[in-house]
Amino acid sequence: MTATATSFEFYPPKTDEQRKQLDRTAARLKSAVPDYVSVTFGAGGSTLSHTPETIERLQRHHALEAAPHISCMGGSREEIRAQLQRYISMGATRLVTLRGDLPSGMASPGDLRYASELVEFIRDETGDHFRIEVAAYPEMHPQARDAHADLKHFIGKAKAGADGAITQYFYNADAYFRFVDDVRAAGVDIPIVPGIMPIANFSQLRRFSEMCGAEIPRWVTQRMLAYGDDVASVRAFGTDVVAQLCQRLIDGGAPGMHFYTLNLARPTLAVLARLA
Ligand code: FAD
Repeated sequence: MTATATSFEFYPPKTDEQRKQLDRTAARLKSAVPDYVSVTFGAGGSTLSHTPETIERLQRHHALEAAPHISCMGGSREEIRAQLQRYISMGATRLVTLRGDLPSGMASPGDLRYASELVEFIRDETGDHFRIEVAAYPEMHPQARDAHADLKHFIGKAKAGADGAITQYFYNADAYFRFVDDVRAAGVDIPIVPGIMPIANFSQLRRFSEMCGAEIPRWVTQRMLAYGDDVASVRAFGTDVVAQLCQRLIDGGAPGMHFYTLNLARPTLAVLARLA
């Protein structure tokens, strides 16, 4: 098991069955002694979100430091202010701060347009109360005009007051190292923690990767397709690929690893068990 700082991301369960699963997963992942865990929000649904109750559950039942993801999509300044106060009263001291995406059918993007504006707003409202993490895209955000514009916008988030960043997942370490070099060359030195997606269900991963603009290398896809329904081989190969990626990132100086767990413990623990 590695000594590198780790954090684990969960999505908020909505049913009792999902809550039980999260409890089992959180209990198992706690053995890996994470720095903190984080809880996502559903696209655009800040007020309907199950995020706060999940934060409370992880704090209370599992004694984990839990960071809510917060979005400005669809929310007014007043609503975001209320959310910040709620998280402060719950004892949260860290936020993963995102623009989010507008769900289809929702007309208004809200008072703030970009994550950089949300970071500024949080700083204005709450000073240094929160440690603020923002998103980074080593393979470019899918809606960005081009890679240079996206890098410039990332730097804008850091300058607006972010303390650190977590990347979208990727399977190409060079994309991460190049992104970090470019950010450093622009004079920004906040830690950029790679987001790691263990491979649990390959067809689901392929669909998801197309939506969020993450590239799965051809050689990985071809091997996975050849394994077909051979679940044991898919798991073993997936663990191999992701553990090698993590080891390269650690050896190359990555300041930590943020695992997209999808509320499953096994794929993440299998990778961690392989790291030096
Ligand atoms: P921004 O940083 O605002 O960027 C969005 C786009 O706008 C980019 O293309 C950027 O280049 C462009 N842009 C930024 N500033 C400007 C400007 N001034 N002018 C013109 N263009 C600009 N989604 C969820 O629904 N729930 C979650 O909990 C969640 N958690 C995430 C956690 C992490 C670590 C990551 C990497 C992503 C997460 N996402 C989540 C996905 C995220 O909401 C989407 O990728 C969203 O489309 C962008 O959010 P952002 O904060 O990166 O946006």
